[in-house]
Amino acid sequence: MHQAEIGIIGGSGLYSMPGLTDTQEIAIQTPFGEPSDKLVLGELEGRNVAFLARHGRGHRLLPSEINFRANLFAMKLVGVGRIISVSAVGSLKEEHKPTDFVVPDQFIDRTFLRTSTFFGDGIVAHVAFGDPVCGVVAKTIADACDQESVVGKRGGTYVCMEGPQFSTRAESNLYRSWGADVIGMTNLQEAKLAREAEICYATMAMVTDYDCWRAGHDDVTVDQIVAVMHQNAANAAKVLRAAVRAVPAERTCACASAIQHAILTSRDAIPAATRAKLDPIIGKYLS
Ligand SMILES: [Zn+2]
Repeated sequence: MHQAEIGIIGGSGLYSMPGLTDTQEIAIQTPFGEPSDKLVLGELEGRNVAFLARHGRGHRLLPSEINFRANLFAMKLVGVGRIISVSAVGSLKEEHKPTDFVVPDQFIDRTFLRTSTFFGDGIVAHVAFGDPVCGVVAKTIADACDQESVVGKRGGTYVCMEGPQFSTRAESNLYRSWGADVIGMTNLQEAKLAREAEICYATMAMVTDYDCWRAGHDDVTVDQIVAVMHQNAANAAKVLRAAVRAVPAERTCACASAIQHAILTSRDAIPAATRAKLDPIIGKYLS
């Protein structure tokens, strides 16, 4: 099997990874279906990297249509231990300006059409999610922003909404009253599934606009967002290279053993088919 140590999931505006060399595209089948696109495996800054376009190349999938389970399982199957996720977000605070990057450390779930777990079908597990992103990867991303002179803010709350429409003004103001920082449509499911798959995960959220809350300003249009997205993509490419270079070789965080004590189902009650399906994730705890 092809192996990669670092996964990059590219969002709106980042459909390929500049600088990735010796690339090989592989179509991966998972027990949960097909990922959004082929995985592009290659070398970046001397590290083995797997890149996936979250919405598919050509941006074909709505947030609600993304098979998050297949995407994360595919990363697990090629050996990825750390994921740097990239996504376009709206800002919910004046101080987070378009073209700023935010590295969130919390999420609020406002989705309702998605399956966000690998478990079920006869196995129950509850992973801890109080700290939903990997502190090591988050710090690596924020440090890489500093190094590349891109504004990269440490910490913050990401509201994950269903979409595909943007927020109403009432919703936007509600999220602001909750103290949330940015709003997007995809990253929470990835964070949950990465934790279940014991993959370190953090997000580089690139601000494209002020959502619709900001009084005295026009509502956000798709054209405005696209222009900022191009600049964000250029910044993302250089920050990602710096981050990939700096990801520590060894994993010392708790992400790698996240489901050690999470499985509640009696081992002998887990159906054989479920056991086989989830072997890449839970096999080491069932043998
Ligand atoms: Zn970690």
